[in-house]
Amino acid sequence: MAENIVWHESSVTKEEREEKSGQKSVILWFTGLSASGKSTIANAFAREVFNRGKGVYVLDGDNIRHGLNKDLGFDEESRKENIRRIGEVAKLFVDAGQIVCTAFISPYRQDREVVRQLVEDEEFLEVYVKASVEICEKRDPKGLYKKAKAGEIPNFTGVSAPYEAPINPEIILDTEQYSIEECVQQLIKELNI
Ligand code: ADP
Repeated sequence: MAENIVWHESSVTKEEREEKSGQKSVILWFTGLSASGKSTIANAFAREVFNRGKGVYVLDGDNIRHGLNKDLGFDEESRKENIRRIGEVAKLFVDAGQIVCTAFISPYRQDREVVRQLVEDEEFLEVYVKASVEICEKRDPKGLYKKAKAGEIPNFTGVSAPYEAPINPEIILDTEQYSIEECVQQLIKELNI
């Protein structure tokens, strides 16, 4: 596959971009059950960070599955490939000097570890968006749990597919205890933005 392909060094380095923009690029890898609050918090956080004049972008699960990953399903192999591609895209954003928030269930520990290994140590922060399956089921903003319970969605995380919670995440956002705004403030504080 990757024959006769030679890496071409960029004329502008990540370090130069970071220096110019005065920000450190980083991946905030949001992981958690469907309806735990990943997209909501990532977007609220991005708004706040943007308002402060920083470069930030959200890669959102559903949106990416409309385009780049529309050929992928939800079986274990497809989920793995989904996360691998997102990881590579997030890495490009890091190289471009951005703060990139990824909002994907990313249920498998091993897959998240693979992404962590793609970038420098301090460039990957695992953000565990924590809410029990019972609470997520109550929120169910897209009616997905209802459908999954009725057997209409196979391999639904938390219902008919596993979720492997992070063991040692850099950040835990407890969305059962704290509001969207409180979680955003927690992130701003932890990242010193
Ligand atoms: P996910 O991206 O994890 O699937 P969403 O962000 O799409 O989750 O949906 C989370 C839902 O839960 C939204 O309807 C949001 O308004 C609601 N919600 C209630 N409390 C919170 C909270 N503390 N943090 C985040 N979302 C919350």
